[in-house]
Amino acid sequence: MEAWFRYSDELGLGPYYRDRASTQGAYRAPGASSDAQPVIAGPASQPVPLAMAASAGTRRGPLLPAPRETTAPKPSAAKPLPQVSSAASLFDERIEGDTLDLIREAIGANCTRCKLHKGRTKLVYGVGNPKAELVFVGEGPGRDEDMQGEPFVGRAGKLLTQMIEAMGLRREDVYICNVVKCRPPENRLPEKDEIATCSPFLMRQLAAISPKVICALGSCASQTLLQTTEGISRFRGEWFDFRGSKFIATYHPAYLLRNPGAKGEVWKDLQKVMAVLGLKPKRK
Ligand code: SF4
Repeated sequence: MEAWFRYSDELGLGPYYRDRASTQGAYRAPGASSDAQPVIAGPASQPVPLAMAASAGTRRGPLLPAPRETTAPKPSAAKPLPQVSSAASLFDERIEGDTLDLIREAIGANCTRCKLHKGRTKLVYGVGNPKAELVFVGEGPGRDEDMQGEPFVGRAGKLLTQMIEAMGLRREDVYICNVVKCRPPENRLPEKDEIATCSPFLMRQLAAISPKVICALGSCASQTLLQTTEGISRFRGEWFDFRGSKFIATYHPAYLLRNPGAKGEVWKDLQKVMAVLGLKPKRK
């Protein structure tokens, strides 16, 4: 509770939240109600506008735009959807009976599948509620995470925890993981081959948890999950369907530490997530 006020104060959103209380219901994310529109699937690797998909009767794919909210503010102009690569997903099919423990076992404590193992202190698998309704996905461990073996425990992690608490949740209520499980040297971005090698385990984690909402933090996680090379600013804050979960991308907490002015945008994204999950921030 205290954390939320601290975070919302940091964001300068005290007035925003008070205003929101009087407009609740008007700010509802797509699919927030129990009578959400059914999602219509597009081709396996390409997002298709819903109207087009409906008329074409297309089959289910890994990614498609979720139905647009009818009461939330509309974008000023129709934006093109992210371009999705034509590469087939390695994990289009769920593994029957898969669990987080089995996936951890499959990775192994001493994984050497990609070159990131060379500089690793601890493999950072993921942490949180295995039945979480909300999963946050970051790009990879940093120095603190590498030392402790837990994702998002450094400065950016503390900010993420504040964000989670601002949403009226505890850190242990959600699940937190990364695209790659080992720290890239000097905190560089994970490279394509590393992502290609490690991300199938992320896909299995997401499938095993099957959360209501997946929130990708930053470009790497967003682009990996959406299979796009578009910049995050093109689709941040928009809803997609990701294999049955709602998917939204927002800025990485590390970016917010460098650009505190973007916190307001992130808070708007988190408000959308809260609307879908029926969450209300804790009050004093
Ligand atoms: Fe294995 Fe993933 Fe670590 Fe690469 S990043 S060594 S694939 S656990």
